[in-house]
Amino acid sequence: SNRILSSLSSQPSAVTPRVFSSATAPIQATLFPGDGIGPEIAESVKQVFRAAEVPIEWEEHYVGDQMDPRTQSFLTWESLESVRRNRVGLKGPMATPIGKGHRSLNLTLRKELNLYANVRPCNSLPGYKTRYDDVNLITIRENTEGEYSGLEHQVVRGVVESLKIITRQASLRVAEYAFHYAKTHGRERVSAIHKANIMQKTDGLFLKCCREVAEKYPDITYEEVVIDNCCMMLVKNPALFDVLVMPNLYGDIISDLCAGLVGGLGLTPSCNIGEGGIALAEAVHGSAPDIAGKNMANPTALLLSAVAMLRHLELHDKAERIQNAILNTIAEGKYRTADLGGKSTTTDFTKAICDHL
Ligand code: NAD
Repeated sequence: SNRILSSLSSQPSAVTPRVFSSATAPIQATLFPGDGIGPEIAESVKQVFRAAEVPIEWEEHYVGDQMDPRTQSFLTWESLESVRRNRVGLKGPMATPIGKGHRSLNLTLRKELNLYANVRPCNSLPGYKTRYDDVNLITIRENTEGEYSGLEHQVVRGVVESLKIITRQASLRVAEYAFHYAKTHGRERVSAIHKANIMQKTDGLFLKCCREVAEKYPDITYEEVVIDNCCMMLVKNPALFDVLVMPNLYGDIISDLCAGLVGGLGLTPSCNIGEGGIALAEAVHGSAPDIAGKNMANPTALLLSAVAMLRHLELHDKAERIQNAILNTIAEGKYRTADLGGKSTTTDFTKAICDHL
C-alpha cells in the first residue's frame, strides 16, 4: 500500500523540486474548494491536516460569480497568482455547464498555468475487495490540447466543428514526463494509447513523438495500443498495463475506467504537473451534483491527492501518516461512505481517519 501515490512526488528532470529547509515554518499552499461536493471534501482535508499537524497554511480561493476581465474567466486573477507564487496547491472539482456558458474552469487553469501532464495513479486498496486485487496502474494524460483545446464553432447552420490540436512540443513533453516517471519509479513498460488508424495526422504525430522519446529509454518496454482494444484489455486483465500515456480526451475516459477497477471515483487521486515545478493536486472525479450538500461524499480521492501534494513538498512523514490512516480506516471497514457500500457520512468518515492518525 505504501506504493500508492508515492510516485506523484517525482518531477521531470528539467524541473527543480521545491525543497524546504525547515518543517516548522508554515508552507503556503493554494486551496480551491471548488463546486458541488468540493467544499465538503476540502473541509475534510483541512480537518485531517489540522489533526496531523501538517505545517501548511492554506490560501483559499473560490471561483468567482462573474467574469474577471484579467483572466477572461470566472477564476480570479488573484487565485491564479496564488498558485504561481506558491507553486503548489490542491483543487476541488469545478463544475462546467454542458453545451453552453463559460469556458471550463479546469481548462482555463490547465492552460493558464501550463499544467501539461495529469498523473493519475490507480491502485487496489488493501481490504477493499473489487474484482481485481492487484491493480497498479498509472495513467499520464496530456493536459493542454487534443480535443480539449476549446476551439469550437459553427461552420454553417446544422454543422459544427471542434478542433483537435496535437503539437509536437506538447506530445514530446508529456512523453518525456511518462518515460522519466517510469524510469524513476521502477516501472517497466510504457503504453501509448491512440486511435492513429483513424486519426492518422493527430494521433499519428502523438505516436511519432512517443517513439522518439522511447528510443532514449532502452530499458523501458514501449508499446502502442489502440484505445478501444485498450479498454477491453483493461477490463479483462489490468495487469497487462503499467504506465499509460495518452492524449487528453483518451486520458479523461481511461482514467475513469481505471477508477472503476478499484472501487470508483471516490478513491482516485491525481496531480497536475506544470512547467516551473507547479503541482496542483486534485481528485479525478467531478463536483457530483447528485450528492452535493448531503454529507455523503467520499473525501478519499481528494485526501489522497493532498497526500500527493505533501510528497511533492517532501513532507514524506506527514504524507505517510495520513495515507496509512486513510487506508487503515477503509480496510477496517467500520466507517465507509455510501459509494463503498457503507453508511458513514463524510464527517464521520473524516473523524475516523483523524482517530487512526
Ligand atoms: P462526477 O465525477 O461529478 O460524478 C460521477 C458519479 O460519481 C456521480 O454519481 C457521483 O455522485 C459519483 N462521485 C463522484 N465523486 C464522488 C465522491 N467523492 N464520493 C462519492 N461519489 C462520488 O461526474 P459528472 O456528474 O459527470 O460531472 C459533474 C460536474 O463535474 C460537471 O460539471 C463536470 O464538468 C465536472 N467535472 C469536473 C472535474 C474537475 O473539476 N476536475 C472532473 C470531472 C467532471
